[in-house]
Amino acid sequence: MDYYLPNPHVALFVSPGMGHLIPLVALSKRLFSHHGFHSTIFVASSSTPTTTAQSQLLQSLQLPSAIHIVHLTPPDISAFVTNQTAIFSRISITVRESIPTLRDALAAMSPQPSVLIVEMFGTYAFPIAEELGIPKYVYIPTTAAFLALTVYVPTLHEEIEGEYVDMQEPVHIPSCKPIRAEDLVDPMMDRKNDQYDYYVYMGCKLPLADAIIINTWEDLEPRTLKALREDPILRRIMPLSVYPVGPIVMSAKQPCEQSRAECVAWLDEQPVESVIYVSLGSGGTLSEEQLNELALGLELSGKRFLWVVRPPSGKDGAFFTALGGVADEHDELSRYLPDGFLTRTLGVGFIVPLWAPQVEVLSHPSIGRFLSHCGWNSTLESMVNGVPMIAWPMYAEQKMNAAMLEEEVGVAVRTKELPTKRVVGREEIEKLVRVVMEKEGDAVRKKMKEVKESGLRAVGEGGSSRDWLSHVVEQWKIGYAEARQPR
Ligand code: UDP
Repeated sequence: MDYYLPNPHVALFVSPGMGHLIPLVALSKRLFSHHGFHSTIFVASSSTPTTTAQSQLLQSLQLPSAIHIVHLTPPDISAFVTNQTAIFSRISITVRESIPTLRDALAAMSPQPSVLIVEMFGTYAFPIAEELGIPKYVYIPTTAAFLALTVYVPTLHEEIEGEYVDMQEPVHIPSCKPIRAEDLVDPMMDRKNDQYDYYVYMGCKLPLADAIIINTWEDLEPRTLKALREDPILRRIMPLSVYPVGPIVMSAKQPCEQSRAECVAWLDEQPVESVIYVSLGSGGTLSEEQLNELALGLELSGKRFLWVVRPPSGKDGAFFTALGGVADEHDELSRYLPDGFLTRTLGVGFIVPLWAPQVEVLSHPSIGRFLSHCGWNSTLESMVNGVPMIAWPMYAEQKMNAAMLEEEVGVAVRTKELPTKRVVGREEIEKLVRVVMEKEGDAVRKKMKEVKESGLRAVGEGGSSRDWLSHVVEQWKIGYAEARQPR
């Protein structure tokens, strides 16, 4: 049944960072291509995208005219942050302080959007949706397991005393797979840090949405999705509909600037599935020592590699640096790599400074494996291309993702100890690369092909994710039409 909809469009609110913007853009593209919905994406940020790197990244998203990105005026957050403020807190504060500007921007939209979709940091915007009388949905651009943990964390906060990381037992979430303490999300690593408070706040607020959309699919996380829908304790905490609509990822064919075109051209010359792609997300960085060991491990393996290299992290040991304003010359990067490495690996390895056209790289037939930090976008991009992974989790919820990929889904191998705990030596890296690239990696490879097929089925004609998204869109249309009925 068709509903009269003069201008079907949605408003989305996203926190700073390419890793957050990319999935919302991918969702918007899907809403446009399958349902004709236009989108306005409001981006909260503590600075405007002024660096060339950031502008190029935005351009590479190739937005159709149906999608508008609006950068909200950056709020002054100086009173709330110091150099020590954790990234999770910084994002939460930026989003919270952007609310007045978002409110004005949303109120000025005419006609009103059918829905306000926020990603998980954006619950501060719920009162605006209520004021404007539009539904408020949350888009979780990561796993159902993350959602279950997050909404349960206020309960854990009451039940468990002391630090989670000191617990001998794994953390139990009703009807879900237990999580080892060391694999918990970053904000749970230190209860005294204020990022923990922001995380508990997120857990309290998510259940106040009208519904939740997640970038996963039924067959990938059946146990957790069942728990979210049926477990009495979780239902009491969050009695909402949960719609898995993934895998939704950006499609390939980004315009290639010089270095990108070169890396794809280099891939064209390599045998099928012979190259391991090494990339640690939109901002992952390694210590100087780890960078060195990784380089030598790749070299020792003798396998072909394509590696997105960033300057090493500072002395603070942070694993994430926002892109922009850093040297992006190949020559500059060689300063951080072992002596003679570039010469010795000439022809076998290809170094891309800072940023590669990842979606295009992962869909290239020459790529056989992916050493990844297990950010969820990267993971899904790997899955839809059937590329098995070496899991190298670093920050956010990546350790949980890595555990799930190895233990539950069976599409990745992991280091013996977490790379955040100690430097992974060159011999171990060499072995891991060999394991996944050679015969021993057959089981993981086979499993990843199955996951690829299952993901494609979910978003294909008659697939569960496609049906759920159609259902969600239908709800918005009905709500929009009803709100405009003559009284
Ligand atoms: N990405 C990219 N080129 C790079 C590094 C990352 O295009 O060199 C993209 C990648 O394809 C993915 C996103 O950046 O879509 C990173 O998101 P993810 O969730 O994997 O990690 P995050 O950066 O949020 O930690």
